[in-house]
Amino acid sequence: MKIVVIGGGIGGYTAAIKAAQYKAEVVLIEKGKLGGTCLNRGCIPTKAFLHDAHIIDSVRTSKALGIFDSVPNHNVQAIIDRKDAVVSRLRDGIASLCKANKIELIEDEASFIDQNTLLLKNRGDKISADVFIIATGSMPHRLPMEGAQSEEVWTSDDCFDTPLLAGQHVCLIGGGVIGVELATFYKSIGCNVTIVEAQKRILPSIDKDASNQLATMLKKQSVTILTNAFVKEIIAKSPFQVICTVNDIEHKITADRIIQSVGRKAVFDELKPANAGVKTTKVISVNEAYQTNIPHIYAIGDVNGQSWLAHAAAAQGKVAVDHVFNPGRTLHPLLIPSVVYSDPQIASIGLDETIAKEQNMEFKVGKFLVSANGKHVVEGKERGFIKVITDKENKILGSTIFSHLASEMIPYLTQAILTNQTIESLEGVVFPHPTIIESLEDAMADVLGLAIHSFPKVR
Ligand SMILES: Cc1cc2nc3c(=O)[nH]c(=O)nc-3n(C[C@H](O)[C@H](O)[C@H](O)COP(=O)(O)OP(=O)(O)OC[C@H]3O[C@@H](n4cnc5c(N)ncnc54)[C@H](O)[C@@H]3O)c2cc1C
Repeated sequence: MKIVVIGGGIGGYTAAIKAAQYKAEVVLIEKGKLGGTCLNRGCIPTKAFLHDAHIIDSVRTSKALGIFDSVPNHNVQAIIDRKDAVVSRLRDGIASLCKANKIELIEDEASFIDQNTLLLKNRGDKISADVFIIATGSMPHRLPMEGAQSEEVWTSDDCFDTPLLAGQHVCLIGGGVIGVELATFYKSIGCNVTIVEAQKRILPSIDKDASNQLATMLKKQSVTILTNAFVKEIIAKSPFQVICTVNDIEHKITADRIIQSVGRKAVFDELKPANAGVKTTKVISVNEAYQTNIPHIYAIGDVNGQSWLAHAAAAQGKVAVDHVFNPGRTLHPLLIPSVVYSDPQIASIGLDETIAKEQNMEFKVGKFLVSANGKHVVEGKERGFIKVITDKENKILGSTIFSHLASEMIPYLTQAILTNQTIESLEGVVFPHPTIIESLEDAMADVLGLAIHSFPKVR
């Protein structure tokens, strides 16, 4: 069996390694840098930046220890250099894994000639296979207006190699996950930050309490947030300007740099999927096994538009390859958590309270303020809460964790939902003390009104 994977991002290289584990002959074609968006201009660079931002913030707030008595100086170029070192180390790791799994790596751009054949643009070679897995990812979207098309107006792709300095003003158009993470970084290194968001609140798809509380925290840290703000015009040369209306009142924001973070779009034009008979809309649509309308051509990751998350791309890649080798296997929908790496982080899985209320569902909610957890207090991370949503019989349906290390805690609740656990069925799980994650125990017990570290609701 020969499998060709097109795109060497997290979806593509995961699928390639999985296929190699089935002893297939595997070819992985990547036109740019191995690791794709996630490694080179997405998850990893942002988290490297945010890690360093947290160090700066920790220094800034450590005066109480008498250790530091001035605002920390930092070198933004050093932050970029460290990010580069992290990225290149991880990229080398992927290349080594491909080599160890005997995956043939081709650096080129692929396009379909027909259902069974690809053309490699630079080499001019044709390549055929039994199965193709499209993993060509996505690129930043730009607003449909003249100024927004200028390369002088950045997208997230442009943020990782050019330093912005303390005191410079950054205007972020879009208060979704990427906009909020970039705002968190830029405010920590001392930039003045404005977020312009068209919806009623930043992070509109996240639990309302978490997004509102995060907005309040960001505002206290001098981030300006304009919501219900519709961008009318972008002046794409210095001094950069964003002109928007909020409740019919015009606002003019002058900035040193404008960054658009207004969503992403699937990448497949150069791949020419129509030559293979693969149907497309704005994305490449797939079934539950990630097959396109052409059964031996699969599409995983951002390009199918289902999730736009790195771990979803990797998980879909594994499901697709499993399906190639075991087509009769029962397919279970993937349960995919999402995380905003704000400070504190927001991690969500399954049903959230905002949606449950909007849909008039019958549900119960347990809520625990992390300020009552010993380890949160020890680490000076008292802000935030954990919500656990259940049905009437206490079966866990969802959770929002707004807390330090939320991303590390959410898999516990993901597993609980996947295995149909109730609050009572998990009572035997004893969490070590003192830990951040033991806050989950109180949040879950609060569904029954029995949290130990919360004041009783009814006497
Ligand atoms: C700033 C930012 C932060 C993010 N942070 C997170 C996060 O913290 N957590 C998270 O889960 N997700 C995050 N994401 C989203 C995540 O990066 C994507 O969901 C993920 O990269 C999708 O993986 P993929 O394999 O589908 O595509 P990609 O990673 O985009 O890879 C696709 C690859 O295909 C190649 N390619 C395209 N066309 C061809 C062709 N014709 N021939 C050969 N090669 C081709 C491209 O060069 C690219 O390398 C972030 C995204 C951004 C922009």
